[in-house]
Amino acid sequence: MSSGVIAIDGPAGTGKSSVSKLLAHKISAHYLDTGAMYRAAALAVLRAGVDPAEADAVAAVVASADIRLVPGANGSSRVYLDGEDVSGMIRTDEVTDAVSPVSAVPAVRAKLVALQRRQAEAELLVVEGRDIGTVVFPDALIKIFLTASPEARAERRHRQNLAAGRPSDNAEVLAAVNRRDHLDSTRAVSPLRPADDAITVDTSDMTLDQVLDHLADLVRTRIGVAS
Ligand code: C5P
Repeated sequence: MSSGVIAIDGPAGTGKSSVSKLLAHKISAHYLDTGAMYRAAALAVLRAGVDPAEADAVAAVVASADIRLVPGANGSSRVYLDGEDVSGMIRTDEVTDAVSPVSAVPAVRAKLVALQRRQAEAELLVVEGRDIGTVVFPDALIKIFLTASPEARAERRHRQNLAAGRPSDNAEVLAAVNRRDHLDSTRAVSPLRPADDAITVDTSDMTLDQVLDHLADLVRTRIGVAS
């Protein structure tokens, strides 16, 4: 199998990023983190001093931003904004708070979806996001939708924060998870939802290794990629 898309969608905190990277490595595919592109767009908006809620101004900033995702070795990927590697900077709380309104702007989605489709033309790709199976790649080889309870997802994010030395309050993290889910799943354009033909996997009570093994099995049986 030399080209095609393995779509992995779902909300934050399901282990989606970690498992997508590991899966890509395991099946010798490249990894595309579409959330990183929306985050880079949100960073551009913040840097321009524009209010993320001002859709027209957001659209103008993102129209002139040069956002690139470069697949690296071992399933890694770096994101560039106007030639600068911003892979670390896009993970701040400020960007996380701005990204949902920015990604709800139709012109932003149109630009980034076109970039994502172009990237997938000649490769086997694991593509992670919110609308990959529903909108960006409706003909994906396989579509997986990862879920987990809000509590399990908040707990994981809380532990990641503490491990990274960031101050963290479990109740606040849970509120932020719920807020972002609500915005992402109720927006007019490409809301977060499983595709009709997606396989839903609830990771609440699974370890990362268990999720990875399960997805690798699904990929092997459904599309025959060796792992
Ligand atoms: O996956 P990550 O948490 O980095 O995504 C950040 C945000 O980018 C999401 O909360 C969502 O608002 C947006 N996003 C999106 N469509 C995608 C990927 C991410 O709207 N395909």
